[in-house]
Amino acid sequence: MPFETEVTKVIQRTPNVKSVRFEKPWGFSYLAGQYVVLTLSDSSNQMKKPFTLSSSPTEDFLEITKKLTGHPFSNALAELRPGSQVSINGPYGEFTFQTECNECNNIGMLSGGIGITPLRSMIKYSIDKNLSANIILLYSNSDESDMAFRDELENVQRENSNIKVIDTITSASIPN
Ligand SMILES: Cc1cc2nc3c(=O)[nH]c(=O)nc-3n(C[C@H](O)[C@H](O)[C@H](O)COP(=O)(O)OP(=O)(O)OC[C@H]3O[C@@H](n4cnc5c(N)ncnc54)[C@H](O)[C@@H]3O)c2cc1C
Repeated sequence: MPFETEVTKVIQRTPNVKSVRFEKPWGFSYLAGQYVVLTLSDSSNQMKKPFTLSSSPTEDFLEITKKLTGHPFSNALAELRPGSQVSINGPYGEFTFQTECNECNNIGMLSGGIGITPLRSMIKYSIDKNLSANIILLYSNSDESDMAFRDELENVQRENSNIKVIDTITSASIPN
């Protein structure tokens, strides 16, 4: 379902990753892990790309989090400011958090880089809903400075004994 909405906040997560928050339209509902298609325009084109909502359905805003690539869509997204108007279609996708599944009490999550977005949504949802699921997240990045949501995930595991986050940094040099 298409809708127009407004940017409310832009957050620089890492040198190469930005989150953009939008007003959540009345009646818009989605499941943790779903994605939307965002339409942006530059001087010559209208461009559409899919993005997982990194926000949780329990939050009162919509958020997408994008790795900046220097390409036209990425540059148009980097130009968004509070008050910018955008068009969004969705939600879509079946990679969602199954809260009513009896066999889902022990959950393993694997993420590389910006693939963290649906998992951040699911973890935040699980916490906000006080779900008892045990979650282990393996979060791999090439460099520490690439780790979006790093502080948040550290706090999450400090404050929730059922959630464990294990980071791997693939470019780290091994000491002699
Ligand atoms: C369901 C879904 C959810 C997604 N969620 C997210 C998300 O949460 N966050 C996120 O950052 N991204 C997400 N993506 C990916 C996102 O839609 C974009 O594809 C991505 O961000 C790159 O877009 P871009 O315009 O910056 O780069 P693009 O210009 O699309 O370039 C992407 C890559 O392709 C290469 N490339 C581009 N053109 C060519 C060419 N002609 N020949 C060879 N190589 C080329 C580029 O070098 C680059 O490595 C998701 C995708 C899907 C399908």
